Amino acid sequence: MQYDVIVVGGSFAGLSAAMYAARGRRKVLVIDAGQPRNRFAEHSHGFFGQDGRAPSDILEEARGQLLAYPAVKVIDGRADQAAVSGNGFEVRMDNGEGFGATRLVLATGVRDILPDVPGLTDQWGKTVLHCPYCHGYEVAGGPLGVLATGPMSLHQAELISDWGDVTLFANGLFEPDADQARALEKRNIRFEPAKVTEVQEDGSGGLVVRLDGDRGASVRALFTAPRNVMASPLAEQLGCAFNEGPLGRAIVVDDKQETSVPGVYAAGDAARLMHNIAFAVSGGAMAGVAAHQSLVFG
Ligand SMILES: Cc1cc2nc3c(=O)[nH]c(=O)nc-3n(C[C@H](O)[C@H](O)[C@H](O)COP(=O)(O)OP(=O)(O)OC[C@H]3O[C@@H](n4cnc5c(N)ncnc54)[C@H](O)[C@@H]3O)c2cc1C
Repeated sequence: MQYDVIVVGGSFAGLSAAMYAARGRRKVLVIDAGQPRNRFAEHSHGFFGQDGRAPSDILEEARGQLLAYPAVKVIDGRADQAAVSGNGFEVRMDNGEGFGATRLVLATGVRDILPDVPGLTDQWGKTVLHCPYCHGYEVAGGPLGVLATGPMSLHQAELISDWGDVTLFANGLFEPDADQARALEKRNIRFEPAKVTEVQEDGSGGLVVRLDGDRGASVRALFTAPRNVMASPLAEQLGCAFNEGPLGRAIVVDDKQETSVPGVYAAGDAARLMHNIAFAVSGGAMAGVAAHQSLVFG
């Protein structure tokens, strides 16, 4: 089946891209594996007009609005191959089904690789967090922790100290040098060098961070900086260029969200080093508009 635009990834960036391509009266296919990155969080914060709503509610409503456009089709499933084919692209699903399009938008997001500490994964999106703008307000004003993934975590601790009294758990990874010790002191951040052995719910909405030597510290929430990996191999398969950031890679895009491969656009977390829903929706809108205009002028 042939489309004008295929959007792989039907979450914040992908639905936004598809909406603009659809409003350009184009035939659009969205393929979505249904695993948005923030599915671990009960509430989403900071997104214009949607503060505090469940991520799944926002997405369901957006998908419903998109499906009101008759030239749009949404498929639940995973695309596992994409390649240039003639003047366009071919996308193949993991069940072998194939689709063609003149333009391709990758809105496939990233996956978080958390530090290997027992109990951390269970609390991800609840009391183990990464983004203070998303969830800091709700846990602010008390003891907060930052679980280090390396010396760069010092900057995360400095930032988070605007939301509460921070302990930086170095997890045995580093000792601060003189400059770093001064930076910690300036922001009243406690430094805990010991290895973190486990995190556990404390029974009253917070966490106990267990430390080597049978010690523990209570925090309302523990921030950390997971490594980000591409949630899909499609950009690599197509030969898209990547930027390397401190936490992972992002697909290189220009100011129209076009990748290094002509006709392939990318948006959302997969194509940015700084992530949130507003940025994803904005990138998606640009990708949808640019893909449409390239069909007119290209
Ligand atoms: C725990 C947590 C809480 C967060 N809370 C907030 C918050 O409160 N506010 C905020 O603004 N941001 C928040 N974020 C960030 C936010 O989740 C992301 O910025 C946003 O989801 C990015 O949207 P996206 O469309 O780029 O990617 P995603 O939302 O991750 O969506 C990518 C979609 O593509 C699909 N996909 C991937 N590969 C394929 C494939 N090969 N075939 C088909 N489909 C595929 C996935 O299944 C998924 O549905 C949070 C993140 C986390 C981890």
